Amino acid sequence: MKIERPKGTRDFTPAEMAERNYVEKVIESVFERANYSQIKTPTFEHVELFEEKSGEDIKAHLYTFEDKKKRVLCLRPEATAPVCRMYAETLRNMPMPVKAYYFDPMFRYEEPQKGRYREFWQLGLELIGAKGALADAEVIYLAYSCLKKLGLRFRLELSHLGVMRGLLSSLKLSESDQRKVIACVDKKDFVEVKKIVGDETFFKLVSLRGGKKELEEARKLLHGYGKASEALNELAEITEILDLLGVEYVVDFGVARGLEYYTGMVFEVRVDCLGAQNQIAGGGRYDDLIELFAGVSVPAVGFAFGFDRVVEAMKEQKISFPKKEVDVVVAPTSSDVRGEAMKIAADLRSSFIVDVDLMERRLGRILEYASVINAKYVVIVGRKDLGRGEVTVRNMLSGEQRNIPLSKIKEEISKDFD
Ligand code: AMP
Repeated sequence: MKIERPKGTRDFTPAEMAERNYVEKVIESVFERANYSQIKTPTFEHVELFEEKSGEDIKAHLYTFEDKKKRVLCLRPEATAPVCRMYAETLRNMPMPVKAYYFDPMFRYEEPQKGRYREFWQLGLELIGAKGALADAEVIYLAYSCLKKLGLRFRLELSHLGVMRGLLSSLKLSESDQRKVIACVDKKDFVEVKKIVGDETFFKLVSLRGGKKELEEARKLLHGYGKASEALNELAEITEILDLLGVEYVVDFGVARGLEYYTGMVFEVRVDCLGAQNQIAGGGRYDDLIELFAGVSVPAVGFAFGFDRVVEAMKEQKISFPKKEVDVVVAPTSSDVRGEAMKIAADLRSSFIVDVDLMERRLGRILEYASVINAKYVVIVGRKDLGRGEVTVRNMLSGEQRNIPLSKIKEEISKDFD
């Protein structure tokens, strides 16, 4: 019987998991040090959760199914809506702001390609209850710090949807036309945008990209457009904090984000090395989403790393991952000492990473195995040595072997671990 894994899913080897675990730890430690705590939401939710505000793109790619009671459920395609639902259901009495992060698989029925999967992981955070430039800047800063800590080269592109929306409102576009325009700008489909927006100011705005100079140009361009220029002031305030924190960014008024719930600052992180799927993180402010579930308005901001892409970008950029290390292999030389060998391994495991022969191999083969897995020491357990209360410790790097009393094995091995 040949059964293959479903399209768009992956198996991860031990070596790949070691890399992924390292990246996860680095990012989570940055989050934890800023006092964010991990949460979990269910893998499937009621489909309505994503129908209202997640946007056409996500809706078109849902994994939907009916359960035995004919409820329509779907595998979660993203985590922000579930976190908002969870906030409304269970987190409302927590002290504000709620600072939560998650690391979970997401599911989207998309056409798989490099960097795009049907099951993929997002590691992201949400900051609930805080509004204003400082909260926005903190979230951007955390995304930036994680990627710097991992050693990646990347571009952080920053905008504010209030600028685009403010201008579109002043141009008297209906809410549904505004949504369409923002979705098209996100896909860089300007032919479609031209069918809805005639005004040149809009096209000048979305092509503005740079730093302080472009912010100033936008200010001139939007002079007299009340809401848009208010949003612009907020964006400028965020950039001032980012400057203080040493965060490098590009202001890009063409950044729109595909998800419909964003209301304010938005940002995306891109790398050059991943081809078409080069966006490794995305996020922004969504001040109206929680009200949908909680009935009261609660401001919020967050972002998610496309975790798989972060790992892939690191590989493309030849960033090295720490190697998995095995300190010791315990090698019984005959079957009558296997139990003792296992006991020695169990003791050593309080201080080291210890493998023990489970294949009943001869010593020569165990030494070969130890060398293949890059073990630093082999502890050879023989009947005669044991009779004298000793074992033989072999340093795999130098090839040197020494007889060591049982009580001194840890000491002998620790020499190299200072
Ligand atoms: P989104 O929820 O669409 O804003 O996506 C956030 C991040 O998740 C993106 O920046 C991507 O890095 C990643 N991402 C989105 N869709 C996929 C996918 N199908 N496969 C892998 N990563 C994805």
